[in-house]
Amino acid sequence: MYDYLIVGAGLYGAVFAREAADAGKKVLVLEKRPHIAGNVYTEKIEGIHVHRYGAHIFHTNDREVWDYVSRFAVFNRFTNSPVANYRGELYSLPFNMYTFNRMWGVVTPEEAAAKIAGQRAEIRGEPKNLEEQAISLVGRDVYEKLIKGYTEKQWGRDCKELPAFIIKRLPVRLTFDNNYFNALFQGIPVGGYTAMVERMLDGIEVRTGVDYLEQREKWDAAAEKIVYTGPVDAFFGFRLGALEYRSVRFETELLDMPNFQGNAAVNYTDRETPWTRIIEHKWFEFGRDEQGNELPKTVISREYSSEWKPGDEPYYPVNDEKNTRLAARYKALAEQERRVLFGGRLGEYKYYDMDQVIGAALRAVRDEL
Ligand code: UDP
Repeated sequence: MYDYLIVGAGLYGAVFAREAADAGKKVLVLEKRPHIAGNVYTEKIEGIHVHRYGAHIFHTNDREVWDYVSRFAVFNRFTNSPVANYRGELYSLPFNMYTFNRMWGVVTPEEAAAKIAGQRAEIRGEPKNLEEQAISLVGRDVYEKLIKGYTEKQWGRDCKELPAFIIKRLPVRLTFDNNYFNALFQGIPVGGYTAMVERMLDGIEVRTGVDYLEQREKWDAAAEKIVYTGPVDAFFGFRLGALEYRSVRFETELLDMPNFQGNAAVNYTDRETPWTRIIEHKWFEFGRDEQGNELPKTVISREYSSEWKPGDEPYYPVNDEKNTRLAARYKALAEQERRVLFGGRLGEYKYYDMDQVIGAALRAVRDEL
């Protein structure tokens, strides 16, 4: 008999498993996919750690979480500074003085602030949706060129139907600072995320390629408690209806050239380009292998956003009103399950970053033990 059966070997599951095992509990981790590490999984191609399920850049302001992950990996000094490509015009992200200079020719912070103030005047009162929020943050020009197309491709929904908070993830700065995140700590684990999660799960029994929901009774009987990190609606057999997710499809290519785009991430912010961004994985590690040698080839992934359908990997919870309401109803059901804890992006239907997932898992496991 196990003390904990953990469904899902992503970050939430791995952290919970580590802490429970260290507290002397008997733990079994089940993972539906053939590999551990969930969506942070990386695999090595031509010496490059390829982020198979999309770019993951670890960043946090939480000292405790940073110290925690640092037990399992050394983090390099990568800083995310994506470039936006709008019909061949390149802009610096997040929105900062380089962006405003390219957009309007303004040179000083004062000029940039005046330009934004003039454009934001069209929004009166509290912004009601993402479009209004974006215009009130950076004005209509930036909204039209750098936000609207990208956001509508990513979410498959009109910016007027999306909640304002999504765009609040993005900083707006009147300084020449291209760091995408307002985080004290940032980096990519040297050796890849898979190796980091492997270390988290060191000495813990893990079975990959096993779908808990397919043999539920058997697994339920094998443990005192269950930590479930899969989609919450699937756990309840979709009895209140299916939650919507956004999925992402990647077209990954190995190219026989050393440098395709000169940056880890280039966002295509127009509406016409079918992909949302292109990731060139080697730049997460400065184009070098672990011995410090420059790599002659490169791997790129074009990222296409799509509505999730059965059989796809769910990536993002959809944060519109309808899904938020349904998620709250599933949460109420989840709270009635005495033996089951729900966690992670899918288990809680929450647009969590990696550090938030780890923080939540640490809190949950502490409450438990
Ligand atoms: N966003 C945008 N233009 C960009 C990058 C981001 O408008 O070039 C907006 C968009 O609404 C998106 C949100 O910011 O949904 C968060 O984007 P980010 O790329 O940070 O999300 P991730 O997919 O990395 O979680």
